[in-house]
Amino acid sequence: MSKRDYYDVLGVQKSASADDLKKAYRKLAMQYHPDRNQGDKAAEQKFKEVSEAYDCLKDEQKRAAYDRFGHAAFEGGGGGRPGAGPGGFDFGGGFADIFDEMFGEFMGRGRGGAPGQSNNRGNDLRYNLEISLEDAFKGNTTQVRVPTSVMCDPCGGSGAEAGSSPTTCTTCNGAGKVRAQQGFFTIERACPTCGGAGRVIKDPCRHCGGQGRVRKEKTLQVNIPAGVEDGTRIRLAGEGEAGLRGGSPGDLYIFLSLAPHRFFQRDGANLHCRVPIPMTVAALGGNVEVPTIDGNRAKISVPAGTQTGHQFRLKGKGMSVLRSPARGDMYIQVVVETPVNLTKRQQELLKEFDKEAEAGHNPESEGFFAKVKELWADLKD
Ligand SMILES: [Zn+2]
Ligand SMILES: [Zn+2]
Repeated sequence: MSKRDYYDVLGVQKSASADDLKKAYRKLAMQYHPDRNQGDKAAEQKFKEVSEAYDCLKDEQKRAAYDRFGHAAFEGGGGGRPGAGPGGFDFGGGFADIFDEMFGEFMGRGRGGAPGQSNNRGNDLRYNLEISLEDAFKGNTTQVRVPTSVMCDPCGGSGAEAGSSPTTCTTCNGAGKVRAQQGFFTIERACPTCGGAGRVIKDPCRHCGGQGRVRKEKTLQVNIPAGVEDGTRIRLAGEGEAGLRGGSPGDLYIFLSLAPHRFFQRDGANLHCRVPIPMTVAALGGNVEVPTIDGNRAKISVPAGTQTGHQFRLKGKGMSVLRSPARGDMYIQVVVETPVNLTKRQQELLKEFDKEAEAGHNPESEGFFAKVKELWADLKD
C-alpha cells in the first residue's frame, strides 16, 4: 500500500508555512467533510487522508521527521497502526482542536468508536533518552529497550485460551451497552457482564490470564534527526503498551535531552567555545587549533595583540539545522592566560621586558588609570 505524499495531499509546497498548511487543510476538510458527503466513500477516504496529512505536518517535530524519513517515520515495525476502530475515524491526538473549532457547533462532541475500543487502548509510554551533542549534530539511529506490554502470542491478543475464542456477550448481544427504563427515561450504560467489550471470555488464556497481553521488554529503533533540540519529543505511533484483549496499542514518546558537552555550549544553531590561550601567543600572535562538532579541527590565527574576550567566528562550523542543509556558526572566545609558576629566569626576563615599557603598550590600562587620576584630581579641587 503506497501512501501519497502529505504535501501533495494538501496541495502545498514543501516550503509551505504553518499558515499555508492550515488554510489548505481547512479548505479541503470543509470540502470532504462527511457531513456534506453523506455515504460518499471516496470523500470519506479523502477526508481521512487530508486529516492525517495535516495532523502530521502541523506538528513541527513530526514534519521534520516526515521530511527526513517520509512515511517510514511513523510506521512502527508492524507497518501502520492497527488501532482505528471499524467505521470510525482514527484521528491523531491533535485533530480535535481544529475539528471542534470548525465543526463543533453542529457535530456534537461524541466521537464514538467501536464498543470497548477506547477503554481497551494500551497506555502511552514515555522514554527519556539522553544523547550527545555530536549525535544531535549528525543525527543517529539508536536502539532503546522499553519495558512494556506486548500482545500475547498464544491467544493472539484475544485473551481466550488457544482453541477457544471469545463469545458474544449474551447480556448485551455484543453491543457493549445496555438500556434500562427509568421512569420516562431510557438510560444507556456499559454492559455489566462484559464491561463494554461486547464479548466475554469463558476460557481465559493461561499465558496472559485473559488480558491478551504480557509484560515484556521491547527493543526499538529510534531515528534521531540531525539538528534536534534539547526537549524534542519523538512519537512512535502504536509502540506503546499493547491494548487490553486486542485493543489498540498506545504510543511511545521518546523525550530527548542533550548531555552537556566538554567544550561546546549550544545556542540554537550556534556553538560557543571558550579557548584559553597563552599570554605569549596573545601578544605575539600565532595559530591555535580547536575541535569542531563534526569531529574535525579548525585553525584560528590569533593576531598579535589579541585581548581576552575577543571573539572569532567560524562560519558554518556550528550545529546542523533541523530539516535543512544549513549549519550555524561556531564562536570562539579567547581568554588570555597569565602564566603561573615562573622560573627565576622567566621572572628576570619579564622584569627586563618591563624595563623596555613605554607608553602605548597597554592602551587600555593606561587609559583607565589616566581617567582614575583625573577623577582623583577633580575630587581634590
Ligand atoms: Zn494470552
Ligand atoms: Zn455485554
